[in-house]
Amino acid sequence: MPDQKAILDTIENGILVVTPDLQIRFWNRWLTLQTGISKEEAVGHFLPTLFPGTSFNLLKRKVKIALKLKSSTFTNSSVEKFIIPIKLHNITKSIFHHMRQDVVITPLGEGEASIIIYDTSALLEAKAVIQNQLLVMEKQATTDTLTGCYNRKMFNDLLKSEVKKADRYHHIFSLIIMDIDNFKAVNDTYGHLAGDEVLKEMATITGCTVRESDLFARWGGEEFSILLPETTLEGAAILADKIRRTIAANDFSNIGNLTCSLGVAQYHKTEHRDTLISNADWALYHAKNHGKNQVAVFDQGEIQTWPGANGN
Ligand code: GH3
Ligand code: MG
Ligand code: MG
Repeated sequence: MPDQKAILDTIENGILVVTPDLQIRFWNRWLTLQTGISKEEAVGHFLPTLFPGTSFNLLKRKVKIALKLKSSTFTNSSVEKFIIPIKLHNITKSIFHHMRQDVVITPLGEGEASIIIYDTSALLEAKAVIQNQLLVMEKQATTDTLTGCYNRKMFNDLLKSEVKKADRYHHIFSLIIMDIDNFKAVNDTYGHLAGDEVLKEMATITGCTVRESDLFARWGGEEFSILLPETTLEGAAILADKIRRTIAANDFSNIGNLTCSLGVAQYHKTEHRDTLISNADWALYHAKNHGKNQVAVFDQGEIQTWPGANGN
């Protein structure tokens, strides 16, 4: 049977044995490889003197608790980053500066405790990369790549949940559908890329005009939709007209002035969301047919041009 301590030197985890005041009684080879501190330099010395500037108060407390309760304690690396500061080398290209460690402290006889250190850096790093990737994928799945606003699928999901809220909690909300006037001519005259730039600029202008709580999406092509929580038909029409005026006053580079038409409708309890969309769409159709560069509202089955609707 080989020396049992020598076996501990073959293990790919850190193992040390300490007294309650953290005097080191055993230090395995893995720790030497990771810290550069040899067995001779470690054994008999106090952990804090080997790592000046590092607080070992928590470790001290945990060792004392393990000894008192006569049972192991576990420290998770996602809560406590490390117990012993081990710098990770640049070569590993880790996102962490220090090795992340899971630590198990187990009471031994004679007032000593063993500390086993597991390197969890690679695992946590993989987790962080996956989480990041998920965020990117989530953004891609919900965002229109050209304009950066929500895409139609996301808008439909948000609309569904707004309808549920409205039905359950008697909330009100309204919808604006906006369509750029004569956009085909922009493409035909200045090219598709210039058209794309216009779409981006339209999205920026509109995104800056709406409130943060409003949900702004690219409905498709050169159409945008805006869902306005807690907003009446009148409030939505006022905002729609503000968007219309802001866009009409904008100087689109190399192209000059452009206009848009907007249709507005308010949600009424228990109606289907498709009805709301088609009401706003009818209003938009009305605005297009009555000269464009205007807002029309769907109000109790009737469509009127805004502000002509109430003389504003
Ligand atoms: P109206 O005033 O009646 O809305 O006329 P319009 O020309 O704006 O509408 P129409 O439906 O005739 O044309 C829409 C154009 O929008 C045609 C299509 O090529 C263009 N379009 C749709 N999506 C994009 C896009 O992503 N980029 C560019 N550059 N053009 C697009
Ligand atoms: Mg259109
Ligand atoms: Mg159009």
